Amino acid sequence: MTADQLDALQSKAPHSYLSSFSPLQVFQQHQNLIWQYQNDAVLICDDALHVLAVNPAFQRITGFCADEVVGQNVELWRSGLMNKRFYRQVAQTLEKNTIWQGEIWNRLKYGSVFPAFLTVCKQTVSPAVGCFVAIFRDLTAQKEAESHAHNHTRYDMLTDLPNRLLFAQSLTRFCSSEAPFALMVLDLNDMKTINTTMDHFTGDEVLCAVAHRLSGRLRGNDMLARIGGDEFALLVPGIVNRRQAEIYAKQVMGCFDWPFQLENQQLYISAAMGVTLWPADSKEPDLLLSNAEQALFEAKKLHVPLRLYNGELRRNLQSRNRLQQDLANAIKYHQLSLVYQPIWDITHQRVVKLEALVRWNHPERGAISPGEFIPLAEESGLIQGLGQWILLHACADLVRLRKLGFAELQMSINRSTPEFQTIDLDAKEWLTTIIDMGLDPKSIIFEITESLLMSNQESNRQRMRALRDAGCRIAIDDFGTGYSALSYLRSFPIDVVKIDRAFVRSIPEEKQECLLLDGIINLVNSLGMSLIIEGVETRDQLAYLQARQCAFIQGYLFSKPLAFDDLVTYLQRVSTHPV
Ligand code: C2E
Ligand code: MG
Ligand code: MG
Repeated sequence: MTADQLDALQSKAPHSYLSSFSPLQVFQQHQNLIWQYQNDAVLICDDALHVLAVNPAFQRITGFCADEVVGQNVELWRSGLMNKRFYRQVAQTLEKNTIWQGEIWNRLKYGSVFPAFLTVCKQTVSPAVGCFVAIFRDLTAQKEAESHAHNHTRYDMLTDLPNRLLFAQSLTRFCSSEAPFALMVLDLNDMKTINTTMDHFTGDEVLCAVAHRLSGRLRGNDMLARIGGDEFALLVPGIVNRRQAEIYAKQVMGCFDWPFQLENQQLYISAAMGVTLWPADSKEPDLLLSNAEQALFEAKKLHVPLRLYNGELRRNLQSRNRLQQDLANAIKYHQLSLVYQPIWDITHQRVVKLEALVRWNHPERGAISPGEFIPLAEESGLIQGLGQWILLHACADLVRLRKLGFAELQMSINRSTPEFQTIDLDAKEWLTTIIDMGLDPKSIIFEITESLLMSNQESNRQRMRALRDAGCRIAIDDFGTGYSALSYLRSFPIDVVKIDRAFVRSIPEEKQECLLLDGIINLVNSLGMSLIIEGVETRDQLAYLQARQCAFIQGYLFSKPLAFDDLVTYLQRVSTHPV
């Protein structure tokens, strides 16, 4: 500020300060302050809060030049965002401590507001020229950076939707607002397959497209969040009963009715949803979320798009937990057993292989199907222990059969995907068990499912190779029931393909089914793999398969799975009287 400018200011200065100081005096006493702060605004005012002087940074930050503010009351750039109580507290603090520091919103010359960090000192030296010195720093850039970082902690970077944290906070807020709402949790089907068979960019593209479509289905106050990889949640206020919830949920799920147009392709995506209501199902955020997830789990299990939570669901879950506990005990206390289903070589009219199938006779519930308890064992991590028990006992029974004179039989043993994926890469655990029992690994076939091929991991290929190098055979079980894994068949070391009984059920009557089966048989033959047809129940089916040179057949037509002693009787009978 030049002396000329200061003189000019003098004419505008209010009386309270004119009477005691000239602007030159203010400037002289505070020039250090005024020039020292290059980035922070400095302002000096009298006890009636009229401005005496400002520094150049003040002008840069607020847009007001010195001429416009000197002599004005500091209220000129109050933002209106701080209430009277705030200013009262500042005044009280200054009274006591002579210094106040804190954040404040001020107004720029052209009206917009900005955040500032303000330090106000009350002058105590005597004679004080000016009563207050205020120094403030513009916090706009810092706040923007903070809010950006803050957004990253509360918003999903991929879809820009609220993330799990913000969703959880909103759920708690919804619960405490005492107004009815529905919580809906939605999970995409087959997202894993998309990520493994395509690439992660496509996966990301799908998620963004889904987020966009779902957002388009929302009403004004609904909230949509991405709470996990392919899991979304909706908070829908105003839903008071199940009927309303169902109508709304169906309307949301309608967005999956037509294909998603991605950059290079069209994809049909489907999803499952679980729904729960506040306050009908629970008033607690945690319980509500767990209800919705249970309903979602149930929808997935039943392969339906939508499930509403109800008390029965919770009871089901409890009984599943109990069953899991029982299964753990059954494994521990050897309440499980194995049965064996013969696999026939119909060209040579003899049993050449056996499939080991596990059985559980529950003390209260009676026989429980492996179709029910194997998935339970997979979910609960019991499958590894169970699988090891099965391998050991199947090998032991094969040794017994050898001793009884059935020297050529091979044993086919089912392996769950999680079981296969958790053994070491050289499959030593399994090979050691087989060899320690005195068996040649050539007599063991491991049945795995298509889903294992779909994950297309090099580690799985390595395990298969290790088993094969040692002499074991690898079979693909239930072929054709999962995703079409035709291209994978070629790229994995596979010896045997077991065609699921679904393909055999309607032959020879249904012509379409016959064509499909013929196609699969030709394909497997042309890949040089052998073929086992499962679930053959009728003589017509057998004749049809015989005509197509299918050598290996398994099914109730020949035999149901048999307990060990019955198997021995059966094998003895058919070795002398082939069927
Ligand atoms: P899977 O491996 O495809 O086994 C064949 C299933 O089809 C067996 O059912 C068998 O009893 C049944 N089956 C065989 N022939 C016929 C037929 O002609 N008609 C009909 N309707 N069914 C027939 P099971 O024993 O209930 O086993 C079901 C599934 O449970 C098995 O399917 C397999 O995926 C799993 N499983 C069974 N035992 C084991 C095991 O020891 N370990 C593992 N990981 N899974 C097992
Ligand atoms: Mg099997
Ligand atoms: Mg099968």
